[in-house]
Amino acid sequence: MTARDWFEKAQKENFAIGAFNVDNLEIFKGIITAAKNKNSPVMVEFSPGEAGYFGLKNLVDMVVNAREEYKIPILLNLDHSKTVQDCRAAIAQPGFDDVHFDGSHLDVEENIKGAKEVVALAHAKGIIVEGELDKLGGSSEVHDEEIDEAVLRQSYSDPKRALRFVSESGIDIFAAVFGNIHGTFPTQPDLDIALLTQIKGALPDTFLSLHGGSGIPAVQVQSAIKAGIVKVNINTELRIAYRDALVEKLGENPKEYKIYSFSEEIAMAVSAVVENKIEVFGSSGKA
Ligand SMILES: [Zn+2]
Repeated sequence: MTARDWFEKAQKENFAIGAFNVDNLEIFKGIITAAKNKNSPVMVEFSPGEAGYFGLKNLVDMVVNAREEYKIPILLNLDHSKTVQDCRAAIAQPGFDDVHFDGSHLDVEENIKGAKEVVALAHAKGIIVEGELDKLGGSSEVHDEEIDEAVLRQSYSDPKRALRFVSESGIDIFAAVFGNIHGTFPTQPDLDIALLTQIKGALPDTFLSLHGGSGIPAVQVQSAIKAGIVKVNINTELRIAYRDALVEKLGENPKEYKIYSFSEEIAMAVSAVVENKIEVFGSSGKA
């Protein structure tokens, strides 16, 4: 099954596929172990920073090997690529299912132009493309500052603008902004499900993604899935699980230099978070 088939199945059966960011090998093992345990399809994704750390060829090999070994659907996505050039490099690698061209920093005409170019390259290889029009705020970290909801609201997606962007660019997945933000905050804004419903109404044939899935209460994520979200991005919560487990293990073992002796346990701490997300997203047993 292709990524398109998987998202169509998700749409039809009312679940979402988790798109989990990979910072390092422990997080990767945590994600795929959880997917295996839950018999769930899963997407692993690499931002340009994460992809730069691994190297494109290495990360593709890692994912291709894991598909064989774990025998579960592992989709591969390039996350938040700001340039056509980076998308082109990923598309040239056999193994990618999806590339996310994030032109939200560009003016709309430039964004459409870039997205169109990526769509032509990607579709020729059977790869789907995610596009982003409205700049999603925050960063995938733990934030102490409060969100100014009035300011945040100015960046929410407008259904009419979204429709024009999607029709002209030809993208397959639209990154909707309706109260979601990257990272975790002391007070998380509520998702605007009424707005999401309008966006889905304007884009009935486009898949919708929810970025900044970390920190959003499960019940709200489930309402968003009911309203049409088929891809939920999670990064920060994995980073927290990884860092907390690493700090704990280093503290417990001050004389241990063979760090890999507890790397497995750190990976399993990440895995527990992913298993919980898979349950929330309803993708358990769907592989
Ligand atoms: Zn994102």
